[in-house]
Amino acid sequence: MTTTGPRLDDLLSRAAGGARIDPQEALALYTDAPLHALGRAADAVRRRRYPDNIATYIIDRNINYTNVCVTACRFCAFYRAPGHREGWTHSDEEILRRCGEAVELGATQIMLQGGHSPELGIEWYERIFAAIKREYPQLTLHSLGASEVVHIGRTSDLDHATVITRLRDAGLDSFAGAGAEILVRRPRSVIAPLKEDGETWLSVMETAHRLGVESTATFMMGTGETNAERIEHLRMIRDVQDRTGGFRSFIPWTYQPENNHLKGRTQATSLEYLRMVAVARLFFDNIAHLQGSWLTTGKDIGQLTLHFGADDLGSVMLEENVVSSAGARHRSNRTELIDLIRGAGRVPAQRDTLYRHLAVHEDPADDPVDPRVHSHVSSTALELLPAAAATG
Ligand code: SF4
Repeated sequence: MTTTGPRLDDLLSRAAGGARIDPQEALALYTDAPLHALGRAADAVRRRRYPDNIATYIIDRNINYTNVCVTACRFCAFYRAPGHREGWTHSDEEILRRCGEAVELGATQIMLQGGHSPELGIEWYERIFAAIKREYPQLTLHSLGASEVVHIGRTSDLDHATVITRLRDAGLDSFAGAGAEILVRRPRSVIAPLKEDGETWLSVMETAHRLGVESTATFMMGTGETNAERIEHLRMIRDVQDRTGGFRSFIPWTYQPENNHLKGRTQATSLEYLRMVAVARLFFDNIAHLQGSWLTTGKDIGQLTLHFGADDLGSVMLEENVVSSAGARHRSNRTELIDLIRGAGRVPAQRDTLYRHLAVHEDPADDPVDPRVHSHVSSTALELLPAAAATG
């Protein structure tokens, strides 16, 4: 049913005023609210939460440590089955070398993300986390996620709480929100039939939060889910957040359609993406931060998210391979992210994993200039090329 006229106006004004909206109301806003009114309402909530007008970015590096994976998600262009001739796993030395480069370029965070390799048990993760913390204690390990916990639990025959505790004690600081994809049973079982179900993903995160390991939550839009299923994904996350408060941010992004078994075109348009960002800001009265994605939707849409409720543009991404394998061609650099934020009328600030401001760039004359701090795709080695070569 379509929600129109005075009822929609009333709903928008209640949501903009900070009232909690229920899933039915979120769906009505998502499908029926005029785009600009929706953006204005989300921006009003964001302004109240962040009156300093700052929007943030982070310098980090994704290190994809293996592409060997038994989970075979149908949307994934990155993985290779065990035994495949193109399968690889980085050595400890290579991972440490990449961490060293990241430190040299000013990164504060490492995201170790990889396939579910049957060769890697809990001891491998403990060893590499401990080694990174020993060599580079200044790096925050915001890595793995609920899916990896489930996988490590299987390979090492451990319960989820034990896996989380051992990873935490070895040096893990927080979990990334990857692997959430869409948590709703029907679409999840189509796109990732071998991955743990959505309830399990949430229960691992809930356990982690209780054990002091916070996380983010993500949403990969556009793999054939209905609008109602999109809102149901948000509801499932908000319910857990009501109990734990452990999700630091919500990060929606769009499915990239190349080189994978789902094939098909991206079904989330730019306008749908902006509507989702806005509704997420209105619906998640209990999650502090909302990240707009420039990597999957492009820099223009990334910039626009800052007017639809987002307070963060995420990472410069010194290295990323997974969504790039599926067709994400967008690259950026620190200067460009700062310019995008400033161009949206906001004050740019570099943040850390905990969203603390490390440097607020009030004056363009004082902007940091380092052409090496740019996003990069690399499957084997990182070349430190000038920024211009990688921003196209
Ligand atoms: S998305 Fe992750 S778990 Fe799924 S196939 Fe790709 S690497 Fe494996």
